[in-house]
Formats: sequence, C-alpha cells, structure tokens
Amino acid sequence: MTGQNVLKIAGLKVSYGGIKAVKGVDLEVNQGELVTLIGANGAGKTTTLKAITGTLPPCTVEGTIDYMGASLKGATSFQLVERKLAMVPEGRGVFTRMTIEENLLMGAYTRDDKAGVAADIEKWYSVFPRLKERCAAMAGTLSGGEQQMLAMARALMSHPKLLLLDEPSMGLAPIMVEKIFEVIRDVSKQGITILLVEQNAKLALEAAHRGYVMDSGSIIMGGNAADMLHDPRVKAAYLGE
Ligand code: ATP
Repeated sequence: MTGQNVLKIAGLKVSYGGIKAVKGVDLEVNQGELVTLIGANGAGKTTTLKAITGTLPPCTVEGTIDYMGASLKGATSFQLVERKLAMVPEGRGVFTRMTIEENLLMGAYTRDDKAGVAADIEKWYSVFPRLKERCAAMAGTLSGGEQQMLAMARALMSHPKLLLLDEPSMGLAPIMVEKIFEVIRDVSKQGITILLVEQNAKLALEAAHRGYVMDSGSIIMGGNAADMLHDPRVKAAYLGE
C-alpha cells in the first residue's frame, strides 16, 4: 500500500425529492486498500456508490468526488471504463441475453491485447469452473451466485484500478458467499483497490483493511477493520453479538 488516494469523497449529499439519503459524507480509499462501507438497509450505501458512478441526476448530488486526482463529475459510463473504474452493481447487472463468454468479452471491450484477453478469460474460467462449463449459455439462465461470479469476472476483465462492489453476498447461499469473498480477498492481494458495500458486516470487516459505518445518510464511525470487529458498538449493532 502506498497511501496515495484513489478515491476521495468530500461533503457528499444526495437527495431524492424531499428525502436526504446522503448527508455530507467524507470517505477515502487509498491505493491497494480494501475499504468496506457497512450499515443497515436504507443507510445510503448504494446511493453513495451511485453518486460515484454518476448514475444519479447531477442536480441531486452535492460535494466532490475525485478519482485518481481528478473529478468524476459528468463522467459517462464509457469514460469510467476508460479511466479504469469498474462497478458490480447490486443485482449483478450481467447482460442476460448474451452468453457467458460474450459477457466476459464485453468487460474487455476497451482492451486491444487479444492474447491477454483470451488468457484472462481462461484465468476466470479456472477460478470459476462453473462459468466454463456453461460458457455458451445465456447469462440469464445462470443462478444468482453464478451471475455474481460472472459480474465480478466481467468487471475484472477491464483491469480496473478501482473496483466498486455493491452487496456481493446478497441473496447467495453460504457456500457461494464464501467463494465470492475468497475471490475478493485474492483480487485485493493482487493490489486492486476495492470499495466494498456490504450488509454482512462480519465478512466485510474480516476481509477489509479499513471500514466505515453508515447510518441514516451519515458516516458514524470509521477506522481499521480489525479494530472495528472488536468495537462493542459495532458488535452490538452490526455483528449481532
Ligand atoms: P440497501 O442495502 O437497502 O440498498 P442502502 O444503505 O444502500 O440500503 P440506499 O439504497 O442508498 O441505502 O437508500 C438510502 C435512502 O434513500 C433510503 O431511505 C431509501 O429508501 C431512499 N432511496 C433510495 N433510492 C431511492 C429512489 N430512487 N427514490 C426515492 N428514495 C430512494
């Protein structure tokens, strides 16, 4: 870890009509870090990610969001891919009417190193053998867990500098959750910077370097993830202990 900022959010506010979903959030993710944003349903975590990727109407967003030292304001989804920022949204977002292999190729559409792309596809097939078995099937026919695998592999095909993950464990069987988290830890060890939004606070804090707790639109706590796992307030409110 070099400590250099990859993502720096300051004073972020988002309103949906009269609802203030995010109320002045400051958050940083440094080079090589795995940072998790935890919190209950409706705390504003997904809205924060949507603000980063520019999927909210600009007039509803206040504050600054800098990525690799430059603002993300007004960036189109194509520009985000070019700038090496990838997101796996809640609900996966795979192209259901394309095959698994086509989905993986879509993840690499800004790359022109054909041999490297082919090698990466083989690499992801070896990480997730189920995707190889079903490589010619439509992505929409995969189970939720398999779609999560595909969505992660597709995002990583773009060789992102920052990977945003929204609730990767949601709705998955425990064995699948374990596998997805194993991959998240591996990807982090390879040096990819990650911002992980999760409701499963225990798993997320166990995997992360640092964490933030969000509650009713505000960050109410932040720090070293291992310390947070032992914090009595985190234990009581988010770990069910
Ligand atoms: P979840 O885990 O359920 O996704 P979250 O922490 O990601 O929760 P958000 O989805 O960001 O929370 O929601 C924050 C607040 O904004 C909630 O009160 C939610 O009801 C509200 N909200 C989210 N999306 C919209 C929308 N499109 N229109 C109006 N209100 C919304």
